[in-house]
Amino acid sequence: MQHLTKKVTILIILLLTLNPALGASEITLNDIERPESAILLIVDGLGASYYYPELTPFALDGSELSRAGTQNLAFGTRIINISTPYPDTGIAHSVIVTGFSEANEEIVGYPDATIYDITRQHGFFNIAVMEKGDFMNMREEQDIILYAENNSIDDPKISVQSKNPPPGVLELMDDWKEKLPEYLDGKSGVGKYSAYNKWGIDAANAVAVYMIEEHPTSKFFLTVNVGAIDSGGHNMGDDDYIRLVEDLDRDIYSLYETAKENDMAFFFTADHGMAFAKKNARRGGHVSEKYVSMKESLRIPFVMISQNAVPGLISGGYGEEDIAPTILSVLDLPNHLQYADGTSIHVKKYASIFVKADSEYKVSLWDGGTKLSEQSASELIFAGLPLNASYTVKASGAGGTFEEKVSLDSDRQFRFDNKTGLNQKQMAAGILIIIVNIAGLAIIRRIK
Ligand SMILES: [Zn+2]
Repeated sequence: MQHLTKKVTILIILLLTLNPALGASEITLNDIERPESAILLIVDGLGASYYYPELTPFALDGSELSRAGTQNLAFGTRIINISTPYPDTGIAHSVIVTGFSEANEEIVGYPDATIYDITRQHGFFNIAVMEKGDFMNMREEQDIILYAENNSIDDPKISVQSKNPPPGVLELMDDWKEKLPEYLDGKSGVGKYSAYNKWGIDAANAVAVYMIEEHPTSKFFLTVNVGAIDSGGHNMGDDDYIRLVEDLDRDIYSLYETAKENDMAFFFTADHGMAFAKKNARRGGHVSEKYVSMKESLRIPFVMISQNAVPGLISGGYGEEDIAPTILSVLDLPNHLQYADGTSIHVKKYASIFVKADSEYKVSLWDGGTKLSEQSASELIFAGLPLNASYTVKASGAGGTFEEKVSLDSDRQFRFDNKTGLNQKQMAAGILIIIVNIAGLAIIRRIK
């Protein structure tokens, strides 16, 4: 398998790269590893209450429900307490990709609204395999998407929509479109629903493997939605819903192994959960009035597996709108999501400083009296800084000269504005990357 991770070495500081096409400069000062591509798996209707061993699901009448026996992602970085602001499929998917708690399907189509706008600006292909959550503006964000036109497992209608596909992926998706009947033939009930999910996961895994093998230098962001846990919650009882969750936990193994073996980031979440009126109910729901405010409808899992994320359980309360900023932070991409009100969850092993200016500024990074790096650009990223260390960022350009001391517990963003000067709010586009760690700093001092 091709090793996708870019091993950033100290030598790269001697090869400062300026990419005028992206308006972004990248300087790296370290040998840390970070993911270059990512998979985002959204399990439609998977309530964290049924998935996390630490939680217990209850029915509307107060009776305790069963939890799935799940093993597969227990070793990742797990956010235990995270909820959707509103448990509706279209709205919740919109929140996930925009980082905005009041997002809807229309906002997904606005410029610079989604993670896909940012990945595209940084050279990623946006690829998707989606059984649900594939509304028009979501499809439009993708370079190519294999999706279900309807939500029927008995009579599924699968399509491919493509505008800028990586060579070969359209043909591959067309092949996978034809494979669905053989997954479903002769099956019924839970078995058929799980087969529908497995088809989506296997198709996504085939696309990921193809990209890794055939386009090893291309970065890609692969979004996957599996729909039959949600369908099962609506059409079957709580006991069948749990069986579907356990089947899924088994069937995702190949997909996250592909991510792990190739040092990609793997993000696992859900749009919303599912609630039941009582034990042995014959159908459930999440957005109807009686279920909409139940924890079982609102709580979602969020698990990350990435080489630059600290594994373990993360406590504290978070919202679904924090997912997009966290994904960008793990990918070392700047959070210039136009509407985001979420913030990144501190899971990364290092911090990064993102700088954006209206025009070209000379920007330098200082550790005490030692200048670590200097570059002239309008967009910069200093990534890979050790956590809890102090640095000074100096910048001079059309708006004047600025100096700011920072102590980093997470990523920081600066904007140098020609009219109002320094503005630490979100920036609007582009980058320069400098990666520093303690080892890196020592070597830099020797070079100087
Ligand atoms: Zn949904």
